[in-house]
Amino acid sequence: MNMLKKKALQLIERQLAKTGTVLEVRSWTPSTFYEVDLHLPGVDMNKWNAVQHMKTKVAEYVYRDYTPASWDAETQTCTLYIDASHDGDGSKWVSQLKRGDKICYLGIGGTNAKPINGSRILCLGDSSCVGHFLALEQLVGKGNLSGALVINEENHRKEFAHYFDTLLEAIPPQLSSNIDNLHNWLKEQQWGSNAVFIAGNVAMVVGLKQKIRSLPDFDGAIKVQGFWW
Ligand SMILES: Cc1cc2nc3c(=O)[nH]c(=O)nc-3n(C[C@H](O)[C@H](O)[C@H](O)COP(=O)(O)OP(=O)(O)OC[C@H]3O[C@@H](n4cnc5c(N)ncnc54)[C@H](O)[C@@H]3O)c2cc1C
Repeated sequence: MNMLKKKALQLIERQLAKTGTVLEVRSWTPSTFYEVDLHLPGVDMNKWNAVQHMKTKVAEYVYRDYTPASWDAETQTCTLYIDASHDGDGSKWVSQLKRGDKICYLGIGGTNAKPINGSRILCLGDSSCVGHFLALEQLVGKGNLSGALVINEENHRKEFAHYFDTLLEAIPPQLSSNIDNLHNWLKEQQWGSNAVFIAGNVAMVVGLKQKIRSLPDFDGAIKVQGFWW
């Protein structure tokens, strides 16, 4: 990163940076997926009417987006669900986090994922979207949202089913393309008046949206959110 960008980031950090405290970190087995409980003083979570994302500092001059989910407005606490199965600054950061650590973030803002009046929601994504879709479920209410997340590790799929009381399913990557994995799962479902929300890998999100649009029996809304390239 050049000097000018560093200076600009330092300035932004000085003006916008906020601090949270890590209350607990739980790693799944194998330890490539983490739950991070946070206390975020001063954040009014009652105002969250869309799924949020927070720009979190994971290394010097490096920020990554994560989704605050499972929030409790009264105690100003929430949980991040972080996929760390790849080699990245965010993965390294979360794998060394521990209770009592302070985290720095630049702000929390809304995404386009929010309840749609009268529609049940069907969600499709990968491991990076666990928090995003749990947060959406918290907004629309249990029973109004279902869907599938491709989760590579067999034990993570078991943990997902065990930990969360949700209609979301953790499905295995039977084929090499997650577009095909999710499309095949979708073909087995009843559409009803569902709106479809897709998130995760950008190429997957784009490809899956095109496939769903071309299905003859689908005329619902599709919302997409690319998470990573
Ligand atoms: C609005 C929003 C909300 C998000 N919320 C979450 C969240 O709650 N939890 C979460 O885990 N992620 C979330 N993400 C995605 C996360 O910001 C990215 O995955 C980010 O790239 C991870 O940073 P990194 O430093 O670990 O990897 P990077 O340095 O960005 O990437 C390193 C390498 O890993 C690959 N890579 C990056 N992410 C993944 C992945 N998930 N799976 C496989 N390969 C990957 C990249 O293609 C690259 O080759 C969100 C993204 C957005 C835009």
